[in-house]
Amino acid sequence: MKNGRIKILQASVDAVTQKEALENIRLFLSSSDGHQIVTLNSEMVVACEEDAQFRSVVEAADLIVADGMGVVCASSFLKKKRNSPFFDMANLVLMPFYEIFSPEKIKDVLPEKISGIDLIHAICTSDFIHDKKIYLLGAEEGIARRAGEALKVRYPQLKIVGAESGIRKVFSRKDNDELIAKVNASSPDILFVALGAPRQEKWIYDNLPKLSCVKVAMGVGGSFDIIAGKISRAPKIFQMHGMEWLWRLLQEPKRVRRIYNATFKLAWLIFRERKDKIEG
Ligand code: UDP
Repeated sequence: MKNGRIKILQASVDAVTQKEALENIRLFLSSSDGHQIVTLNSEMVVACEEDAQFRSVVEAADLIVADGMGVVCASSFLKKKRNSPFFDMANLVLMPFYEIFSPEKIKDVLPEKISGIDLIHAICTSDFIHDKKIYLLGAEEGIARRAGEALKVRYPQLKIVGAESGIRKVFSRKDNDELIAKVNASSPDILFVALGAPRQEKWIYDNLPKLSCVKVAMGVGGSFDIIAGKISRAPKIFQMHGMEWLWRLLQEPKRVRRIYNATFKLAWLIFRERKDKIEG
């Protein structure tokens, strides 16, 4: 899905709706190659500024969806007519209010937010899933297995063929080779990887060619933790208004630095990029 790909700072993202993303996934599953899906959130946009390797891994992905209102707002803001830095700053500050009162104003570039966890559920309820096998890799001991069980309760038709924790599993080459052999032995079509960004994206990029049956591999961040019930997802009102970061901060205060990167640092980088363009 490299048509319609846009840039947010140095990161790339595809302007697709969830429905279009699912159509792409259907095509990926019917082809003979492996495909990588990236769910790009605000923190990853900042990471792309600082990590050239991560940036090229994201760019190489077959589908990159906008995982968060921060990414959707950023794309819209960067497209708006360039005014003075003062008006730009005012516009940036107003973004969350546009989001609440006039959401169509910020969906002029990226049509919607597609969270990794929503995409998992959408895949699990799609009409192409019935004969596909799913493998869950990542998260702390037992969480992937619990997430698999929870998915199975919710979607009894699902074929979950394996679940493996992610902590320390892929550090040594031997561990990694064993893991690849294990995944290959259950020949999944879809692999969800929860190793946290950017590790999960880099891991998929490096290992997808060795995973002979996998047609779709997607980094899913903390989704297994939520599906397994280890942490709770932000209430709908937080999700709708791009405030999931606040919910996560309340649940896990030690994420404060990461949340700062995903909010204030991203806003500052975007403002600076526009200011340079106005003055340049
Ligand atoms: N994780 C892992 N191995 C690692 C780092 C993280 O299995 O080396 C798991 C972690 O337990 C969590 C998931 O990766 O289940 C996502 O972590 P994080 O909260 O950083 O992701 P986010 O949702 O913020 O993208």
